[in-house]
Amino acid sequence: MKELHNRTKIVATLGPASAKKEVLIEMIKAGLNVCRINFSHGKHEEHQFTIDLIREINKEYKFNVGILADLQGPKIRIGDMENNGVAFETGDVVNIVTTPKLGDKNSIYITYTAFPKDVNAGEVFLLDDGKMQMRVLETNKIDTVKAEVLYSGVLSSKKGVNLPFTKTSTPSLTDKDREDLDFALKNNIEWIGLSFVREAQDIIDLKKIIAQQGSIAKVIAKIEKPEAIENIDSIIDVTDGVMVARGDLGVEMPMEEVPLLQKQIVKKCTTLAKPVIIATQMMDSMVTNPRPTRAEANDVANSVLDGADAVMLSNETSVGTYPVIVIESMSKIIRNIEAGMYPYYNDSQIEEHPETFLADSVCNSAVYLAEKTNAEAIISMSWSGYSAYQIASQRPKARTYVFTANRDLMNSIGLIWGVKVFYYDKFETTDNTIKEVNNILKEQGFVNEGDVIINTASTPITEKGRTNTLKVSIA
Ligand code: PGA
Ligand code: MN
Repeated sequence: MKELHNRTKIVATLGPASAKKEVLIEMIKAGLNVCRINFSHGKHEEHQFTIDLIREINKEYKFNVGILADLQGPKIRIGDMENNGVAFETGDVVNIVTTPKLGDKNSIYITYTAFPKDVNAGEVFLLDDGKMQMRVLETNKIDTVKAEVLYSGVLSSKKGVNLPFTKTSTPSLTDKDREDLDFALKNNIEWIGLSFVREAQDIIDLKKIIAQQGSIAKVIAKIEKPEAIENIDSIIDVTDGVMVARGDLGVEMPMEEVPLLQKQIVKKCTTLAKPVIIATQMMDSMVTNPRPTRAEANDVANSVLDGADAVMLSNETSVGTYPVIVIESMSKIIRNIEAGMYPYYNDSQIEEHPETFLADSVCNSAVYLAEKTNAEAIISMSWSGYSAYQIASQRPKARTYVFTANRDLMNSIGLIWGVKVFYYDKFETTDNTIKEVNNILKEQGFVNEGDVIINTASTPITEKGRTNTLKVSIA
């Protein structure tokens, strides 16, 4: 039998280090499932090149690598700094101004025009992922904030600013986001990430625009603000997927709260069959080293054990020195955990949505049957992918194979835990179809002679209705 796919998926941010054909092919072969295009950096020209490259490789190698277009959202940044970086001492006083200029020891430009209006004296704000902290001494409420540096450090160009203690008044979808979104939708991107989501309405608004443009792109809500934590249930309810964006979350919230929040969010998402990605600093030291630290290897392992659909890489693959080795290392950790004490099969309660209750129950029973029969594979014949989401959310030990004639689904479903997809468009009779797809798995080495396969289907098969049928077969 061939080496089977890992169940926990890998998302990697592409950038100068990895948006190259030969590197990207190696990354995909090493286990990369979804490429993230980060609209916080780069121009559309560069993103277009990367998108075209991914599509070209998919075609050439028959891969189904999806794309996550990550919109920057209302991220606040400083402008360029003198000499690309300026050193500050504890107690230094500096003006933060809203008119563009090259930053120096006396004053720094901030992109957020309402900053002087929104902050108050005494409030602490953080720069460069919290590596530098400043306290507001006074604000003229118009264009200048006088602040005191709390710990010495170097501040370099365009670093992010977080205001965890300030109620900000920015819209969740900026003008830049609208342009980036149009660009992404034109390119038929599968997943759209929205940064700094605060409430469910942010997602509803984004989904409305996507629908108006006739796109079927799905939305990932990035959880990185205290407000999103307050509204987490209503956000998960309306979004297609979630990212635990620990980079900003760990600055906006007390860092010691992030580990439990990660576990709680993963649990909420899997209960509702929404995919969840754990992001940021997972293998950070591999930006410059060919091996992760022990703590990083443990972090990836623990995120897998928490039940995440996917673990994500940022700088490690966008600008790091070892974009292929980092994917190989992550894959190895995932493989080892999944072969070990992974907590397969959570028999979660089915919510009684009248419309899907029966189909959900059939999917639930498919997983139950797979556990009882020690099945090697669960096969879902699906147009929408709905049943695969339901099956995967129970984290079955058997791998889930989706056979679909829906080309759009093929790249998007790669993010979902445990799922591998095949193109299949001969839906004739249920018996024949089941025989045929089982044979495809056998011929390609995904199951062996004698293995148990659980088939789910909708009969009559030509009607493409909801899943209503289960069959236990032997390969
Ligand atoms: P970012 O989001 O990389 O776009 O900031 C992820 C995070 O904040 O963790
Ligand atoms: Mn972020």
